[in-house]
Amino acid sequence: MLVEDFLFKKGNLRRHSCTVCNYSSPLLANVKRHLLTHTGERPFSCPVCGKGFIEKQGLTAHLLNHSGERPHKCNLCAKGFVRKSDLRAHMVVHLQK
Ligand SMILES: [Zn+2]
Ligand SMILES: [Zn+2]
Ligand SMILES: [Zn+2]
Repeated sequence: MLVEDFLFKKGNLRRHSCTVCNYSSPLLANVKRHLLTHTGERPFSCPVCGKGFIEKQGLTAHLLNHSGERPHKCNLCAKGFVRKSDLRAHMVVHLQK
């Protein structure tokens, strides 16, 4: 038996449970976040491209894409790209010349 369940049964720990499935957690914040998986709601949306995220961390990581950091640089011109695939797509420009 989990310590959590034990404490719950003894009434020492309140659990918050999901109204849709049988998920439960002693942390209300966890349950609230879990509920989003049922509603499909994404409260954190990117101000740049509008992409939505369930968690703030997801948005924070995504924002790096817009922060101007471009680690994949073209060695034929000065252009930089966020994703390696973008750089590869860009190389076509040089091949056509
Ligand atoms: Zn649920
Ligand atoms: Zn974005
Ligand atoms: Zn280039």
